[in-house]
Parts: sequence; C-alpha cells; structure tokens
Amino acid sequence: MPTFSLTAINVGTFNLGEADKIITLFSREKGIHRAVAKGARKPGARISGKSELLNVNRLLLAKGKNLDIITQCENIETFANLRHDLTRLTYALYYAELTQVFGPGLADESERYFDRLCLSMGLMAASGRDPALLCLEFEFALLQMLGIKPELNFCVGCRDPLTEKNLTAFNYELGGLVCQKCFHRMRRLAAASEIVEEEAEEYAIESQEENIRLGLAARSGARSEAMDGQRTNVYVTPLVWKRMVLANIGSEQIDMEINPNQPQDARALVGATVAARRVMQSYIEYKAGKRMRALDLLADLI
Ligand SMILES: [Zn+2]
Repeated sequence: MPTFSLTAINVGTFNLGEADKIITLFSREKGIHRAVAKGARKPGARISGKSELLNVNRLLLAKGKNLDIITQCENIETFANLRHDLTRLTYALYYAELTQVFGPGLADESERYFDRLCLSMGLMAASGRDPALLCLEFEFALLQMLGIKPELNFCVGCRDPLTEKNLTAFNYELGGLVCQKCFHRMRRLAAASEIVEEEAEEYAIESQEENIRLGLAARSGARSEAMDGQRTNVYVTPLVWKRMVLANIGSEQIDMEINPNQPQDARALVGATVAARRVMQSYIEYKAGKRMRALDLLADLI
C-alpha cells in the first residue's frame, strides 16, 4: 500500500464506528485532508491524545480506497496552555472552524497558511496580548490569503480616501468601508427601491399574467438594491476603524497609546476591539454563507 507523509494540525474530528476517528487535517503539504485514525477512541491507544483537536503531528499515511489511514503519528505541538484558558481555547477552536470552512480555498497557499495558523495558535496560547485583538489580526491574515481582504483606506463606493470625518459604515457586499456620501446615496436608493417594490406588488396584483411577470421582475431588482442600502451596511466609528487598520498591519502601536492613568482609554479600546471583531465576523460569515458556531460560546464568555 503506497504511503506518504504530512505535517498537519487537527482542525476537526468525528467518530467512526466503535473505536475509530475521522480527522480533518490542515497540512503544510496539501492543505485540507481527511484521514482515519484507527483505534483512536480505545482507552490507552497511543494515537488517542495526538488525534485531539489543535494537535500538530508529523504523520505517515497509507493510501486508502476512500480515506487515507494514519499509520504513524509523532506529536510536534499540543498548545498545552490553551487547555487552561477557556476564552483562549474558544478563539483557537474558532481558528480551527475557519480553517475547516475556508481550507478548501487555501490549497495553493497551504504552506503559508499552515505556518500562519500555527504561529497564531502559539500566540493565542502563550502571548499576554488581548485574545480578541490576536483573533482580529488572524482574521485579516486569513482574508488576505483568500484574496478577499476588506478595503479600509479608500471608500469602496467612490474610491475617495477615507478619513475620520467621512467614514461611515462597512459594506459586506462591496467588501470594505464606505464614506458618508456613498452611504447616504445607498440609503436613498434603498428607500426608492422600497417604493418601487410596493408599487410593483400592487401592479402585480392588478395586472394580467404577462404583466404580473413584469411586476415581479421589477420587484426582484428592487430587492437587490434594497440589500445594498439596508442589510449589508453596518456603522463603524473612527476608533473601530483605527482598530481594524492597525490589526490589519499587525501593529501594537494603538496599545502603546493607552495612558495607564486613563482607564477609560483602555475600556474604550477593548470595546473598539470587540466591535471591530464583530464587523469582521459578520463579513466572514457573509463570505462563508454560514454562521461560525465556535463563537457562540465566546459570546457567552465575554
Ligand atoms: Zn464614497
């Protein structure tokens, strides 16, 4: 049976039969890969601990008919400190969830993403920095590798440079921040579309079959315009914007700006990080077309 080796982190597991596990791995060599860990659920099995989530292993796999089988497993890293801090562990599980969802799109970047993921897991486990800020930095790195990094410096509507005075909202559909002028234009379009939508509905009811089809066509067009103005924008304050910009370049400068004699500065900063993360989380979920579940536990903890 042909064999091959991988260096990989466990990002998902589920049980198979009585004693086995199927592990979703993200490997440096191939990106996302699924393999069977035989006997991983037997008490005292050598592979048992190594098959747990977030472990990094060097593996030897045998090619199987459907799924490959792990034949040798050497543990490299466990991120043991994560197991002592529920908040940090939850963020790390969120990284694993993101990897499962976006991993298939990262095959060409597998080496770079694997290294970044392990670095970020290590920082989450051992660094004293705010875990929410570390997470925000990781999210930006992921979005960059996926080629969907949000635009933070220029308005995605008119390309004008953004300033503290003109920035207004984050637009999920356009993938970046919009200026005040464009935000209001979108709002006006949405309001006008709503009127068109109502008129189209009345028209559809009163018209014959052919006209009903035309009315419905106008309505569906109006609905997508309404999405622009109402459902895909979220307000962003200058401090939240600043947080995003600095997390995007991985700068700790903003932390240094805190005056230790001004505890309200620190509180405002924590609030801005939470708000910035919420915007990025929604953007990621918008792009994924699904909710990230690991964060539900996080929401209960914060
Ligand atoms: Zn604009």
